[in-house]
Amino acid sequence: MFNKPNRRVDRVFIHCSASDHANHDNVATMDRWHRERGWSGVGYHLFIRKDGTLEAGRDLERAPAAQSGHNRGSIAICLHGLKLEKFTTAQFDTLKSLSVQINNAYSGAVTFHGHREVAAKACPVFEYKDVLALNEFGQLGLTGANTKPLIAATSSTDSNNMPVLRRGDRGSAVAQLQRLLMIKDDGIFGPKSDAEVRDFQTTQGLVRDGVVGKNTWAALIANDRVVHDGG
Ligand SMILES: [Zn+2]
Repeated sequence: MFNKPNRRVDRVFIHCSASDHANHDNVATMDRWHRERGWSGVGYHLFIRKDGTLEAGRDLERAPAAQSGHNRGSIAICLHGLKLEKFTTAQFDTLKSLSVQINNAYSGAVTFHGHREVAAKACPVFEYKDVLALNEFGQLGLTGANTKPLIAATSSTDSNNMPVLRRGDRGSAVAQLQRLLMIKDDGIFGPKSDAEVRDFQTTQGLVRDGVVGKNTWAALIANDRVVHDGG
């Protein structure tokens, strides 16, 4: 659940991802988009999928890279979506529950805003002020009484949803694999990636076949979680 970072926070910004494509419904895609723009990975701290699942993005201890000129002292939340009618009740429920948790963590000394309040953008496209019952100052009008428990994604990568990869493959899933292997994420499964995969498989007691299937993905994700938890 929400853990207050050590840095000062007094504002929360709400965003939408500007896509309704199912393949973009995850932090890994946001991460790739930001990297492609030359930025240091995903700019949002929290991402809410169409099914309401909450996914962790950027480390909360770091300022977001989401609202130009207004990143410091803020937390950035992004809901997957572009068209107003495609946002889901599950997403809004998660946004409400998350916002109540954040608000409680700061004893109400935090205000909630749409990205569009500080930029000439339509983001977010939905009526976040209504969803969060905000007053004119951006103070939250909700309490825990009308919110549901949050469902957190177990990892930014779900081994059940990842494609089987092998040498010669290309694309965002390969880049995600490379990030998990902690090698250059150019999205091209070449000899270097192949060697790294085989070495990883050996260390994990898996079949050293260079094919990244469900078991290898699961081991990579588990390994990633340990590394990050330790750090
Ligand atoms: Zn935005």
